[in-house]
Amino acid sequence: MQIPIAKPFIGEEEKQAVQQVLSGGYLTTGPKVAEFEKAFAAMHGAKHGIATSNGTTALMAAIMAHGIGPGDEVIIPSFSFFATASCILSVGARPVFADIDPVTFNLSPEAVEAAITPRTKAIMPVHLYGLPADMPRFEAICQKHGLILLEDAAQAHMAAIGERHIGTWGTASFSFYPTKNMTTTEGGMVLTNDDEIARKVKMIRAQGMNTQYYHEIVGYNFRMTDMAAAIGLVQMGRLPDWTCDRVGHAAFYNAHLESVETPKIPEGYTHVYHQYTVRVPEGVDRDAVTKRLNERGVGVRVYYPLPIHRQPVFQAMDGYKDVHLPVTENLTARVFSLPVYPSLTAEERDYVVQEVNAAC
Ligand SMILES: *Cc1c(COP(=O)(O)O)cnc(C)c1O
Repeated sequence: MQIPIAKPFIGEEEKQAVQQVLSGGYLTTGPKVAEFEKAFAAMHGAKHGIATSNGTTALMAAIMAHGIGPGDEVIIPSFSFFATASCILSVGARPVFADIDPVTFNLSPEAVEAAITPRTKAIMPVHLYGLPADMPRFEAICQKHGLILLEDAAQAHMAAIGERHIGTWGTASFSFYPTKNMTTTEGGMVLTNDDEIARKVKMIRAQGMNTQYYHEIVGYNFRMTDMAAAIGLVQMGRLPDWTCDRVGHAAFYNAHLESVETPKIPEGYTHVYHQYTVRVPEGVDRDAVTKRLNERGVGVRVYYPLPIHRQPVFQAMDGYKDVHLPVTENLTARVFSLPVYPSLTAEERDYVVQEVNAAC
């Protein structure tokens, strides 16, 4: 058996939707983009959606719209994909890494409070693997210290705390990269309830203009095409079922995996399992386990093998060599993720369980 770590799905409806756009008049930032923005925002309960070319440009637009730039610090986890930090560097601001909670893998509110300085401008938790970060606590911390709350929601489409979806606490950025829970090929989205931030994100996306050829600020080209939006609209319709499939696979793994530690979810949280991530017991050679599983046809991956503060680009910069994040560094050596994509079959699931239980 050969089971990949991810399996993006494009069906006939997506192909037809793209054909329709190609036969119509608008290829980019047209009616399909507007429809997708409205539908994606409504699905999360947010007031505005602004579609972008990818998740990284969504993050950059959100950060710039809040006026974050040189001299400002943004507190983020190091246990994430590199774009969480690079978008902050890209606008000339400074990422400050705080450690994570050992149970949820998400940014620790205590560590964040300890990292606040007079230069701190914003906090940006990541809903890692699809599990919401502790947004009520981060909202309270931001209110207490007068900080901006951002969300890196690239992995967490429709995740929730109670009835409230992620993407509605702070200005949030999503990704529609092929391996994410839904795709537009490349694509991203900013959600916000703030009219002024929405206006600014739109300007940043399109050369700093709200009125055509009248440029208020320096903007970029972060636009989404109508082909991408048409795919996104179809995929959005599939997302609820796909999320149920992911949650079902996760429940099966939780019930049958023996030797690895399975994910723990806080009461009332909805995890959407972008990744299903386990950790090996202390003392077990994780890399030997993942190597063996891949050899046996179980596509497992480590997200992420090197925390961001340990990346060469940060080690070469001032002030990061002495950063120590014990929980992050410990988990980096112990986690790995299993296939949890929607179309995983019962037979494949059984095989994954059998092989993981045999491997460690
Ligand atoms: C995927 C991802 C991004 C970047 O999204 P792209 O669409 O690939 O640019 C940012 N942050 C996190 C946590 C991600 O997983």
